[in-house]
Amino acid sequence: MRGALMYGPGDVRVEEREDPRIEASTDAIIRVSAACVCGSDLWPYRGLEPHDWPAPMGHEYVGVVEEVGGAVRTIRPGQFVVGSFWASDNTCEICRAGYQGSCVNRINMGSLGAQAELLRVPLADGTLVATPEIPPDDMIPSLLAASDVLGTGWYAAVAAAAGPGKTVAVVGDGAVGLLAVLAAGRLGTERIISMSRIESRQRLAREWGATDIVEERGAEGIARVKELTGGLGAHSAIDAVGTQEAMMQAIGATRPGGHVGFVGYQPVALSGGDLFWSQVHLHGGPAPVRRFLPELIDLIWTRQIDPGKVYDLRLPLHEAAEAYRAMDERRAIKTLLRP
Ligand SMILES: [Zn+2]
Repeated sequence: MRGALMYGPGDVRVEEREDPRIEASTDAIIRVSAACVCGSDLWPYRGLEPHDWPAPMGHEYVGVVEEVGGAVRTIRPGQFVVGSFWASDNTCEICRAGYQGSCVNRINMGSLGAQAELLRVPLADGTLVATPEIPPDDMIPSLLAASDVLGTGWYAAVAAAAGPGKTVAVVGDGAVGLLAVLAAGRLGTERIISMSRIESRQRLAREWGATDIVEERGAEGIARVKELTGGLGAHSAIDAVGTQEAMMQAIGATRPGGHVGFVGYQPVALSGGDLFWSQVHLHGGPAPVRRFLPELIDLIWTRQIDPGKVYDLRLPLHEAAEAYRAMDERRAIKTLLRP
């Protein structure tokens, strides 16, 4: 099969890789219908994350089941499935509490490489959710979004306690930030402040429910959010970036007693003093996308949401190198790859 491999920073190639096969009785093999490049794939691409090269790439995927191991009970060949970027058993105590991203048996799908024609999915019964039927082609991008960016944005909004009567500030206008806006809107949030400087992204944010746009960053951005909220700060803020600046902006924009949801990726250093005086709730981490998948698939299936719009560049798999370049240079919000 063909699959993407990263040979080092800035060097992505699509090459012949060995076909995956059932290794454990709980595995499934799927034929990938669509995959994509994640913002977190850009960390190794930019040399910000050490790796053993060459590394298979990609952890977002939808596809059709080809084969299942002998212990798989709920997933069958021929089904169209959506999975999360963590394989999880969905039965351990942590999973049952809704934190499948920290499942005691979790496996990082990125290590298996979803930017490929075929993919092995461990713990298939726990990881995969089947759609009611094979979806129409135009629905595939939205189902793919559920695999990571939508689920992550949704978790960020839930972690930030977004909802009726609340004002939420969203730091970050990448795919996750924009979908956190969509999620906050669906959760009934009264006012959604999108912090963005790029016009095309502001437009999508508004379409998905943003009521206000703040272009300022840092202390000025915090001051602007306070100005919009009677001097108090937002009830909720979302850090959908994961840099020091973004995290401090989210905490600074939140009123005492409020909630910050953080789903960015880079290590951030927080001082005890900042935390003490901010008096906010902090919750985030690796998104338990699996918790939300049944609900998100239903919203997409009934065409109530259209998160697939974040894929503003769609390329065949063999052009994966260009997919990475376009996202690295911020020419694309998110690139979809079709094997
Ligand atoms: Zn588990």
